Formats: sequence, structure tokens, C-alpha cells
Amino acid sequence: LPANTGYAHPTVDGGRRGDRHRRRRARRPRDGPGIAQVKGVRSVVLESSATLRASGYAFTTWTNAFRALDALGVGDKIREHHLLYERLVAFSASTGEAAAKLSLKMQGKSGPHEIRCVKRNFLLETLENELPEGTIRYSSKIVAIEEEGNVKLLHMADGSTIRANVLVGCDGVNSVVARWLGLHKPILSGRSATRGLAEYPDGHGFGPEMLQFIGQGFRSGVLPCSDTSVYWNYTWYPSPADGDAEESVDKMRQHVLARLRAAKIPAEALDVIERSEMSDVVSSPLRFRSPLALVRGSICRGGVCVAGDAFHP
Ligand SMILES: Cc1cc2nc3c(=O)[nH]c(=O)nc-3n(C[C@H](O)[C@H](O)[C@H](O)COP(=O)(O)OP(=O)(O)OC[C@H]3O[C@@H](n4cnc5c(N)ncnc54)[C@H](O)[C@@H]3O)c2cc1C
Repeated sequence: LPANTGYAHPTVDGGRRGDRHRRRRARRPRDGPGIAQVKGVRSVVLESSATLRASGYAFTTWTNAFRALDALGVGDKIREHHLLYERLVAFSASTGEAAAKLSLKMQGKSGPHEIRCVKRNFLLETLENELPEGTIRYSSKIVAIEEEGNVKLLHMADGSTIRANVLVGCDGVNSVVARWLGLHKPILSGRSATRGLAEYPDGHGFGPEMLQFIGQGFRSGVLPCSDTSVYWNYTWYPSPADGDAEESVDKMRQHVLARLRAAKIPAEALDVIERSEMSDVVSSPLRFRSPLALVRGSICRGGVCVAGDAFHP
């Protein structure tokens, strides 16, 4: 789930790090501004940006994510606006044939599977609306973490300090919390990704299925989010042969279309890319933590843990 750095039972010291008077005051537990009860726990969500980072398009959201969304009381709202997938079809980009078909209607250990492609902005806005006002503190960037007994002192970019009993680091791929836990930096996979979202006000005609096109040096997906919007992604190994593709959205779109047209990709999938909106960040290098680094490292310690991209980008 996209969430930022949340922690429970915090108290806030609004002063500078070197201000001893304020430091002494901070030892007395008190609620800082905007500390709300979320599910009975005093919590805040710290976000380094000045506003909700609701840009981006969509991502595949699986059964376990819906369990978490249900616990937060927003599962049904997300379901209402997003298609439930019935199958995944993987095509060979070389032959155009369906190489694998997987039914997504089979039962999992704890009930039916639930897989949808959820719009990122819809998810973030829904989560934000559900929280008591002020729970998300914008322009709040953690720059360092210190331990004081069982309490963690979170040093913020503006010089203030926050005391927390529990810290959940969902602070993305460059996580400060993961660094504090001693996890190695995520490594570059050598692949990059680009993506976009196409709107079809009169309906797109795709079924409730995830389509994948694999081969010819790329992997691409076409995933309907709702009856009127379709998300696509494309990952590949960049090389000098890509020329100036990274220079602009138009060049990247033409690059992707040229690669897909040279393969056996159906016209409906190409249409999604042709008519889509794409981000100004035309592509991003994909990074990951090696499984060995995770097995050897520590993903939680003394009331601090990582989740989301901070854990496994
Ligand atoms: C702007 C954006 C657009 C994206 N678009 C797509 C997409 O279209 N499709 C797709 O598949 N994936 C996309 N991704 C990646 C995808 O959202 C993530 O893989 C997934 O959301 C993981 O969520 P996360 O909460 O772990 O990390 P993120 O979504 O990266 O969220 C981390 C948040 O923590 C904040 N933060 C970082 N450091 C600190 C700090 N030190 N203190 C306080 N706050 C901090 C960041 O501002 C950010 O809001 C996007 C990510 C971002 C940030």
C-alpha cells in the first residue's frame, strides 16, 4: 500500500535539535498538533512533499492489499471503481500466440483471489479522505533517526524532533528507515520502466483480464482499471540503440510503439499507448533488494520496520 512514514504514540518537539530546553519538554509525553487516533492508536503520517503525491497511474493490487484496505474501511470504495480480473493472458511478442493463460478465479488459502489494477491517485485520495484531518503532515521529511531507550527520535528536515514508539517506514525506494535498519541500498536491475493511462469515455472493450506481451527484449502489460480506463507499462533493457528516446514523452512513446509494432502486438494494445497520457518523468530505472540482502539483513528492530518499496522495491 502506498503510505508514507507512519508511527504511533508520537510526541512532537517543535524546536531545533540543539535546543536543550525544548528537548527537556519533549520528554513529557504530550500530543503534538494534528496527532489523531487512527484505529485507537495515536498516529501521524509524515510526508516529505508539500502535497499528496497523487501523480502516477496505476498498479496491480492483490488479495493481501485488499485485506489491508478492508481493515482500513476503504476496500469497497476501491472495488466499486476497479475491475476484478478473471484471468491473466501472457502472449509471446515474437509469435503473437497466447503462451500462457492463468485463471485468477481459483481459491487461495483464505478465500478467492482478488486482483485489480488500481489507479494510484484514486487510492491515495481515498486513503487521505479516510484519515482524521491533520493526520498526514506534509512537508515533513525525516532526515535521521536516533534511539533513546524504547523511544525513537525522528529528526526532521526543519530541525524539529518527533518522538515515536512505533515507526513504520513506507518511505519508498530511498528509505531513510531502511538505511537506519542497516539494509543495503537497492541495486539497479539494469531495466527501466515507462507507463501511461488511456481513457475511453465510451468504453474500451477489453475483458476483465491482464494482458502481458513478453519477448523481443521487453515485457509489456495492458491492464484495464475500470470500464473506461486502461493502464499500460513497458519495461526493457536500455541501450545506446534507444537514441534520444529519454528526451521527451513523445520520443519515448514513439520508441515504445516502434518496438511493439516490430513485434506481434494486437492493434488494440497499440491504440492504448497511442492515446494515453504519459508522465514527464518518461522512464525510471527499476531497482530491487537482493533476496540474500533481505535474508541477512533486518527488516524490523525495536518497534521500527519497513514496508512497501522501502522493504522490497
Ligand atoms: C509519484 C509516484 C508515481 C508512481 N507511479 C506509479 C505508476 O504509475 N505505476 C506503478 O506501477 N508504480 C508507480 N509508482 C511506484 C509505486 O507507487 C510504488 O511502487 C508503490 O506505491 C509503493 O508504495 P510505497 O508507499 O512503498 O512508496 P512510494 O509510493 O514511493 O511512497 C513513498 C512516500 O514517502 C515519501 N517519503 C520519502 N522519503 C521520506 C522521508 N525521508 N520522510 C517523509 N516522507 C518521505 C515520498 O514523498 C512518498 O510520497 C509511483 C511512485 C511515486 C512516488
